[in-house]
Amino acid sequence: MPDDLIRCGTMGLMASGSDDPALRVQWHGADTVLLRQGKSVHHEAPFLVLLFGSERAILFDTGAPADPDDFPLRETVDHIADTWLERARPTGPYPLVVAHTHPHDDHVAGDDRLADRPRTTVVGHDAGAVHGFFGLAGAGSSAPFELGDRTLEVIATPGHHAAAITVFDPGTGWLLTGDTVYPGRLYIEDDVAFAATLDRLAELTGVREVTALVGCHVEMSTTPGVDYPEGTIEQPDEAELPMGPARLEAVRAAAHAAIGMPGRHVHDDFVLVNRTGG
Ligand SMILES: [Zn+2]
Repeated sequence: MPDDLIRCGTMGLMASGSDDPALRVQWHGADTVLLRQGKSVHHEAPFLVLLFGSERAILFDTGAPADPDDFPLRETVDHIADTWLERARPTGPYPLVVAHTHPHDDHVAGDDRLADRPRTTVVGHDAGAVHGFFGLAGAGSSAPFELGDRTLEVIATPGHHAAAITVFDPGTGWLLTGDTVYPGRLYIEDDVAFAATLDRLAELTGVREVTALVGCHVEMSTTPGVDYPEGTIEQPDEAELPMGPARLEAVRAAAHAAIGMPGRHVHDDFVLVNRTGG
């Protein structure tokens, strides 16, 4: 792998007719890749994460609906995997698991482009399929998921969506929080479940060396309490994606305060939108 890729380099694959990369690729060390779908392709511009272990890799999320010509997910995943395999040269077949932080449309749309990829398993979408695959026993339960010399911890975290999971990666210290925690509008489908999930994540953060909360979107600006309206394509002053682990306590407290209180609850670096029962 070229050094510049190892050092968080960016390889832009361009969408037609735009200077916004269709899928931005950012390496964090040798075994972790953060991808972001371009705003020009879909306003949600979700982040995807690809993690490599010595025995297999896992991709969390496959992006928002887009014309395949504008969203080269398969080509990009293949290129990244080829680059990694060329360097690491694992023995034996090297499978890829495609899973989801949760199955909203902007996180699963590229599934069919990976479904026929060799040695690739695409995990189902509903809570039963997700819990069955990872060996989860219900809300708040956790289970290890082995990539080979890299054991993820997968936690069932409903509240934004019944099938939502959160993943701790000890390799980076990242807590992959999906749409449960990120610098933007945290849409709550079930406020009691959401608050319980935040309790669980706060508990986990107390006993694991979490270095950052890495969610799936950025909707806040750098101005405290100001988010970009839904559908915004240009976000020149958007907040950074990673949030410090200490922010979990703020989200947790806000989640409890929002129980039974529908609507928007604005905080400096996130906004809770309680849609419970809506
Ligand atoms: Zn979502």
